[in-house]
Amino acid sequence: MVAYIIAYSFDSKLDSFNVFEVFDSSPSGIELPRFEKQLRTQELQRLHTGSSILLANTIPIRNRLLAALPRKDYRKLLPVLEPVELAFGEILYEPRTRIRHVYFPSDCLVSMLTTVGSGRLGEFELIGSEGMIGICVALGIVVSPFRAVVQGGGTAMRMKTADFRRNFSASAALRRESFLFIHLLMVQIAQTALCNRFHVAEQRMARWLLMTCDRVNSNEFRITQEFLALMLGVRRVSVSVAKHRLQERKLIGYHRGAITILDHEGLVAAACECYKTVKDAYAQAHA
Ligand SMILES: [Zn+2]
Repeated sequence: MVAYIIAYSFDSKLDSFNVFEVFDSSPSGIELPRFEKQLRTQELQRLHTGSSILLANTIPIRNRLLAALPRKDYRKLLPVLEPVELAFGEILYEPRTRIRHVYFPSDCLVSMLTTVGSGRLGEFELIGSEGMIGICVALGIVVSPFRAVVQGGGTAMRMKTADFRRNFSASAALRRESFLFIHLLMVQIAQTALCNRFHVAEQRMARWLLMTCDRVNSNEFRITQEFLALMLGVRRVSVSVAKHRLQERKLIGYHRGAITILDHEGLVAAACECYKTVKDAYAQAHA
């Protein structure tokens, strides 16, 4: 049995997000997120398939855009935020279709893809717990120009587009954080365009692995060769070569589709400077 728990409401005295709702087992086998692993054994033993019990605990809000909001603004969003589990490969938006929900990833990873020429797909944005999917709604655009695909399964909070627009109008803090995220995405996209033009596949792979690591908050994650090829804009054979080189240098390990970053500092040194440029932009924006 695999159970998972979603943070559910506030404790007004502690002013923290501190009550969990337990959901029953998931057919896709979602793993317990990190905070749930911290629960004591006897608490985990109380979980049963189909049960719904409440456990008190204190955890931070895992999506950083939501976490940056003043608590009074965040509380107003709670009634319209819905916890969802997103599976690897799930398509959240197709191009030219209406955006029905925006998503705030907790520990999942979503890439935005677009096509060139004869339908060849390319990835240009990677979004995890630092931001949201569907940010164009903040600019009044409710038809997605891109495909959004879940590249790392996990949990997210989602909100109906109409609810987001209403809250966006009402909350100056939500507007500020949304605009800041748009700015940071522009930095990421501009850097990626130059990166693909000037840097070799091995450097770019090191960069994307580090970006993935930052967004899922883990040194180990599942990633397919196909996705790596999309991220890097190269053929799968080039992905294989770059991956083997990083393995030979003992910077990463690879086993059955799972990448492990073995030497974080070494991988930063192997990556092009684009990784640091984008990371610094995020750090400065939140300083
Ligand atoms: Zn680069």
